[in-house]
Amino acid sequence: MNLLIMGPPGAGKGTQAEVLVKELKIPHISTGDMFRAAISEGTAMGKKAKEYMDQGRLVPDEVVVGMVKERLGKPDTGVGFLLDGFPRTLPQAGALDETLAALGIKLDAVINVAVPRERLMARLTGRRVCRNCGASYHVMFNPPQSEGICNACGGELYQRSDDNEVSVGNRLDVYEAQTRPLIDYYQAQGVLKDINGDQAIDRVLRDILASLF
Ligand SMILES: [Zn+2]
Repeated sequence: MNLLIMGPPGAGKGTQAEVLVKELKIPHISTGDMFRAAISEGTAMGKKAKEYMDQGRLVPDEVVVGMVKERLGKPDTGVGFLLDGFPRTLPQAGALDETLAALGIKLDAVINVAVPRERLMARLTGRRVCRNCGASYHVMFNPPQSEGICNACGGELYQRSDDNEVSVGNRLDVYEAQTRPLIDYYQAQGVLKDINGDQAIDRVLRDILASLF
């Protein structure tokens, strides 16, 4: 089964992707993981990508597309795959379609893990991190035993600057603006599966599997 998973920051897409690939026994093709690996291994592609990232610029489509193309051409994708983190834009979706056509395969489903914006705000702005050991908490979903203090080491918990309301709002705006056209694109292809991500992890997984079979 050839799958693509998408979802806004805080929707739990990463968690679902991890469980899903185990359940379906297909490789997880995460562009984020691929970039991190290429950079730490210092490959030609990794060096190129790092140059852009160090300058705070987006890695250009040709680099990302080239990397995904190479990965999809590997033999382990014969049983299917779960693509994660790509495409992010309409031109990338077009490039993915061309790549898949060249390989003689197509996407069976695009899983869209949807969570209402106000719930995403609550999830993302509630995060607190320990200054000392880096342990992560959530004021509602995973609170520490005593407010503002790390269970593990007694360190002080703080809110990262990119977890404040303005930053989170911006990230969600960018995601929505970029992704809305993609959702329409896959809807038109008849492969979009809208999944309610605002429920317990195992229920989200159950809904995803039910949409596929
Ligand atoms: Zn700590």
